[in-house]
Amino acid sequence: MTFSRLTKSDLSVRLDQALSSEQGRLLKTAADLATLQHLPLYIVGGFVRDLLLGRPGLDFDLVVVGDVIGLARTLAARQGGRVTVHSKFKTAQWFPPPGEGLPGFVDFITARAEIYKHPAALPTVKPGTLIDDLRRRDFTINALAIRLDGLHYGELSDELGGLEDLEAGILRTLHSQSFQDDPTRLFRMVRYQARYGFNIAPETLALIPGGLLQINHLSAERVRHELDLILEEENAASILKRLEKLGILESVHPALEWNQVIQKRFEKGLNAEQDLSHSPSRRTLAWALWLMDVPSSGLVGVEKRLHFDSALRDMLQAASTLVVQAGSLTGKKPSQSVAALDKIPLKAVQAVTLGLPAGATQQVLRNYLESWRVIKPKTTGYDLKKRGLPPGPEYKTLLRKLRAAWLDGEIKTPEQEAALLDKLIKSVG
Ligand code: ATP
Ligand code: MG
Repeated sequence: MTFSRLTKSDLSVRLDQALSSEQGRLLKTAADLATLQHLPLYIVGGFVRDLLLGRPGLDFDLVVVGDVIGLARTLAARQGGRVTVHSKFKTAQWFPPPGEGLPGFVDFITARAEIYKHPAALPTVKPGTLIDDLRRRDFTINALAIRLDGLHYGELSDELGGLEDLEAGILRTLHSQSFQDDPTRLFRMVRYQARYGFNIAPETLALIPGGLLQINHLSAERVRHELDLILEEENAASILKRLEKLGILESVHPALEWNQVIQKRFEKGLNAEQDLSHSPSRRTLAWALWLMDVPSSGLVGVEKRLHFDSALRDMLQAASTLVVQAGSLTGKKPSQSVAALDKIPLKAVQAVTLGLPAGATQQVLRNYLESWRVIKPKTTGYDLKKRGLPPGPEYKTLLRKLRAAWLDGEIKTPEQEAALLDKLIKSVG
């Protein structure tokens, strides 16, 4: 399809076809209200890009030239749902009443110009025109807008060459300071490159080194967010490989590596995910498969840079320790392996199991996950009480010994367990 030949009516047809009737009604309601209030309303960014590429999403980013907050509030008053407002940035989020195929929220922003006072910091903003708003974006292909209000419905705004680049499959920043202003755009660039199979414009490639120098000024949250988004992408492995090649990973933290060994483990582990019940989320698993052979001390540095939440932090530390120690489990009795593995977050055991090559060590972990973990004696604390044993720490020891006997194959039936229990109680008494 030649994008440059798309007319206003082609685009309105595309829009209508891409949206379900409920989605269409949602946008139409916003557009009608904008028309009444004489406010130009545009849908911008990822939605427009993906609509043209034939893969429309649900990311409704709307730009209003004028009072966005009033518009969003009136919309909620008429249509229901709720609105949250950020007065400082003149943005609003509308959470429409739930409906089939509707997004959870719609973003409304006031068209604005941005000024970066310091590289890699958040910009200051002031109200502006649509073009100002498109100019502050990351790449030309993300700087396209389609107007929605009144008779303008379907008008494409392509002031910055986005259509031509989209057609040619080219990622191009809008100006030469772009990566220095906001180095998260480096991550975004590589993500789009892998997702769409696009090329990077030569003049944009030349700007990468300047951006790299600013990565250390990015906050932990912003870098982690970018990496989280990348790990959710289908092509996460090729994105990470490219980040490594461009020196982006190293600029985040020197312990963040990517190589063929990691790549193999990562891809195999993520593809095998469905093998295990109660698996960690894809993102958690991806982090662990990536970082499990970073030594504990290196991980501490990465954690300091990225501020993982405490569950992920503990899981990554446990996985890294387990990778080192897992080999020694093969010579141990099942009960000894279980005693060691029970102390580790289950998600860490699952991730390491998926990450290890097939072999004796992996088998121990598989045995643990698939059977040993849930092997318990029939006897309970209640039974011990019934037998007249005074409650105390002895209960735990007895039950642990019974469990170990099952695990190590020393007992195989409830009768044998009862006999062993008699023997143990006698030896205690
Ligand atoms: P995705 O499909 O990954 O969601 P997207 O283009 O929708 O891609 P969002 O992060 O949802 O990306 O952002 C919406 C739009 O906001 C982008 O299309 C782009 O125009 C703009 N944008 C987002 N992040 C930045 C940034 N760091 N710098 C400049 N513009 C940005
Ligand atoms: Mg988006």
